[in-house]
Amino acid sequence: PFLSFRGRRALVTGAGKGIGRAVAVALSKAGARVTALSRTAADLESLAREPPRSPPRINPSRDPAPGLPAPPRAPDPPRPPSPQCPGIEPLCLDLADWDATEAAVGAAGPFELLVNNAAVAVLQPFLEVTRAALERSLDVNLQAVLHVSQIVARQMIAQGMPGAIVNVSSQASQRALRDHAVYCSTKSALDMLSKVMAMELGPHKIRVNTVNPTVVMTDMGRINWSDPQKSAAMINRIPLGKFAEVDDVVNSILFLLSDKSAMTTGSSLMVDGGFLVS
Ligand code: NDP
Repeated sequence: PFLSFRGRRALVTGAGKGIGRAVAVALSKAGARVTALSRTAADLESLAREPPRSPPRINPSRDPAPGLPAPPRAPDPPRPPSPQCPGIEPLCLDLADWDATEAAVGAAGPFELLVNNAAVAVLQPFLEVTRAALERSLDVNLQAVLHVSQIVARQMIAQGMPGAIVNVSSQASQRALRDHAVYCSTKSALDMLSKVMAMELGPHKIRVNTVNPTVVMTDMGRINWSDPQKSAAMINRIPLGKFAEVDDVVNSILFLLSDKSAMTTGSSLMVDGGFLVS
């Protein structure tokens, strides 16, 4: 395979849903031993049951030859239960809890790969921003990234292991978006945090980069961008004329975690269809 993470230990935060979940599965399929950190236990339980690779074709001989109509089909036999995704270890935790994070992440390590993906997006007009939304957003989107990275990087250094950290930022870090005062601010701060981390951790052979996606229709994307008028206005500003798919973001994260980007640190990889140059 182009990217292999065989035997590498990875921590992915916010791995219960959306982009983080897809990153955890992709890393596991690529051979990593993944710890999936998230807040909702049921999400982590279902993640541990994801098939480790594409499910086997049960009866490929029944597929029609190209150009021929499909013959009448009997129902597929029941599939065997999915084997447990052997690389994925659940870690159920609210990252806004500093002390719980210290204990749980410290005990789960060491890791060579870290994806700080968990975040919240609470959209409010600037004049109506609440203290609760501000505090929660800073806790999860910024403070937890700094703290988890500290814990993981200290262990990398103690073990003498090179490492790679990818922080999931957003196009919103570099462009003002209506009702995004808090979210834009946390992502902008995250970009700068990532640069300082890259500077200070580089001598320890730890690389730090961000990916900055445009809208992706995960739960977070659907809550904030389902209004057709609002989403059409955004799509009109994206040169490629569409939102990003989860896999677009996953592929960029895996590249930045891998040795294929061995000389890249302190950078932000846009996955925005050109939004920021338009
Ligand atoms: P989702 O809301 O779909 O998933 C976020 C995941 O993070 C959930 O599993 C959630 O768990 C978990 N999480 C949130 N808060 C905490 C917490 N305090 N402790 C532990 N886990 C937590 O988001 P996406 O997959 O869409 O977003 C992933 C990343 O991508 C985020 O950093 C986001 O800012 C960024 N991004 C997303 C875009 C989009 O349009 N979707 C665009 C650009 C960037 P639970 O549900 O249990 O709270």
